[in-house]
Amino acid sequence: MLDLKKLEVWFVTGSQNLYGEETLKKVAEHSKIIAASLNDSPQIPVTVVFKPTVKSPEEIYEVMQAANISEKCIGIIAWMHTFSPAKMWIGGLKILKKPLLHFHTQFNRDIPWDSIDMDFMNLNQSAHGDREFGFIMTRMRLNRKVVVGHWQDGESLEKINTWTRAAAGWHDWQSARFVRFGDNMRFVAVTEGDKVEAEIKFGYSVNTYGVGDLVKVINETTDQQIDALVQEYADSYTLMPSLMKGGEQHNSLREAAKIEIGIETFMKAGNFKGFTDTFEDLHGMVQLPGISAQRLMNKGYGFAGEGDWKTAALVRAMKVMGSGLKGGNSFMEDYTYNFNPDNRLVLGAHMLEICESIADGKPSCEIHPLGIGGKADPVRLVFNSAPGLALNASVIDMGNRFRLLVNEVVAVTPLQALPKLPVARVLWKPYPNMHTGCAAWILAGGAHHTCYSQNLTSEHLQDFAEMAGIEFVLIGKDTNLYQFKNELRWSEVAYK
Ligand code: MN
Repeated sequence: MLDLKKLEVWFVTGSQNLYGEETLKKVAEHSKIIAASLNDSPQIPVTVVFKPTVKSPEEIYEVMQAANISEKCIGIIAWMHTFSPAKMWIGGLKILKKPLLHFHTQFNRDIPWDSIDMDFMNLNQSAHGDREFGFIMTRMRLNRKVVVGHWQDGESLEKINTWTRAAAGWHDWQSARFVRFGDNMRFVAVTEGDKVEAEIKFGYSVNTYGVGDLVKVINETTDQQIDALVQEYADSYTLMPSLMKGGEQHNSLREAAKIEIGIETFMKAGNFKGFTDTFEDLHGMVQLPGISAQRLMNKGYGFAGEGDWKTAALVRAMKVMGSGLKGGNSFMEDYTYNFNPDNRLVLGAHMLEICESIADGKPSCEIHPLGIGGKADPVRLVFNSAPGLALNASVIDMGNRFRLLVNEVVAVTPLQALPKLPVARVLWKPYPNMHTGCAAWILAGGAHHTCYSQNLTSEHLQDFAEMAGIEFVLIGKDTNLYQFKNELRWSEVAYK
């Protein structure tokens, strides 16, 4: 995916002129060391840039303004080594448009018991300086992440890592373009939404192109391009014999390759970060895009079926957040259940379009009939997904607000082979258990479409929701339905 090191987080330390030159020199020296240490840490995926200590309303305003217009800056980490009277911060915080992490740390890890004197106390004041800073942000009702801990502590670094990834996803959404081929699947409610409000709230735009515009690009594909991609398929996957060169359905594989090349060309030409299509509007296309959607997702494009642009955009953002991490992120749908009391499970899949990034082993490339859409049999990748902790995330439009809903799950190895199931699939157990997890999801209005993630945690998505300023609802190990219903009820009031 993306190289997150190209993105910057600015490390800003607050102080004031009252301390005199000697102390301020020390403050700058220590801040430089911390910023460099964060930047060099393998746990932090972005570049951390040291900024000179800010000591006045003017300096604070200036650094915030510069952060706002910087193409590379995705957020600010602020720390008050000494006391920085927070009325100085109002003007700057008021205009700051980038996410903020308040790092409540201290240069010295331990109290130097033998040598501690008032000079030490006056320099190492974040215990109260950061409280002053916290107050003003709370007073201004600003969303931010507070991380407490020593700057060399692995736990602190992990929390900063999580936040920088969320900020990278958020940054990626700003001015992002998503394309919709055709409209929403007829009569479906949850995939609908307010695209104007989404653009205001999230920063990305969603616009529709007639599928004919795409078909035109698909038809411009050359035989050479198709030859090369068909070869790539053969090298990357286990081809079903009928799809191999000389096989009776080899032409369908060529048709699939042609569609993939066409969509990718269209995406690049329009600078789109993701797309959605619908089987109800495929005029001029020979097959529903199957393997192409799977592979384009694996390249980092957002995707969701049936006109679901909210999920397509979420898949893209989560792919950016997970850049460089082991495991993948995919469009997903809760498909069918195993209600056996010994092993209650959800089987997740889609008609075709599950991202290759979550495949356990080499996918098999197959062709089977599709009983929907009235087109030729589509080519798709078939695979199982690895066991382990994962989650499902869904953005829904509540009418007066967006809600980001997350269910933590644990994926399991399929109990048996599924020889007749012609699609990629995952089996998981929702937390806290099947009955409570599914009931909570339904009560919260969660969609059947989600982004399934193997490498993000609910904390990534909570940070992300706070950056977006939207509601975040978690279904996890501690969820109980009585409290959960109250949370939803109380949120109605909070968002009135
Ligand atoms: Mn679907």
